[in-house]
Formats: sequence, structure tokens, C-alpha cells
Amino acid sequence: MRIGIGYDVHRLVAGRKLVLGGTTIPFGKGLLGHSDADVLTHAVCDALLGAAGLGDIGQHFPDTDPRFENISSLTLLADTKTLVRQKGFSILNIDTTIFAEAPKIGPYRNTMREILAAAVEVNPECINIKATTTEGLGVIGRGEGIAAMSVVLID
Ligand SMILES: [Zn+2]
Repeated sequence: MRIGIGYDVHRLVAGRKLVLGGTTIPFGKGLLGHSDADVLTHAVCDALLGAAGLGDIGQHFPDTDPRFENISSLTLLADTKTLVRQKGFSILNIDTTIFAEAPKIGPYRNTMREILAAAVEVNPECINIKATTTEGLGVIGRGEGIAAMSVVLID
């Protein structure tokens, strides 16, 4: 069995859709990035790649490649799952934490869980989504960005 960790952060800006865990959340701002900037899904990709010893998301899906412009990060996650499986691993569980001062994540938690589970083809019970604020401290607390962390176990 192998463990992987992933961490990501994106800047919050006006005029972008907010997509977290493949779920569009109504909010005045969205995350800035080459793809849809789904910070949670990126953290899960990095955790899976890390566990399988496959490097990181930037190596496989470079943000200089026009193929990945505005792409749904769920496509990157599905591709990541394929890479992990090609190395002979199956995914046992995925735990995550979203760091955001706003919006409230609770109402979207189950939707995110089901969408991520479908992308990696596991039971939703194998995925956990937590959210926390940073008590108003730092860049997250000032609402300048949203971060996410993920830990996965593969076998
Ligand atoms: Zn990212």
C-alpha cells in the first residue's frame, strides 16, 4: 500500500466561475487558472500521482499546453486515475480538506463527493471532503484564494 499527498492553491478573482470538486458553486468570484482551476480536484490528482510515484500534475498536464486551457479538471482526474491503474494500483480512499473563508462548502459536500467518486470510479464512501476556514488569517482568511489538501491510499 502506498500513501500520497497533494496540495494546491489558486487565486480568487472576479469574473470567473467557482468550481470545486467538479461542482459549480454560486459565488461572486472564481479561481484563476489555465484549466477551470478546480483546486480540490488538482490536490486529489497530485495525491494520486504522488502515491503511484508518477510525479505531479504539472508534469502530466502542463499549463503551457493549449489542450488544457479551460478544461474541466475532472478530465485531468479521470486521466490521472487511468495512469494510476496502468501502474497496477487501485484506489482505496481519498481524504481532502478545503481551506476557504467563503463560501460555505457544506451544502455542496455530497455532490462533490459523488462527482469525484465517479471520476475515479470508486464508491463515494471511499471519498471524504472536509472544509475549514483559517479564522481570517493569511491569504485564505483575507479571501484572496482557496487552497485544498488531499491524502490518498492506493494498493
Ligand atoms: Zn491547481
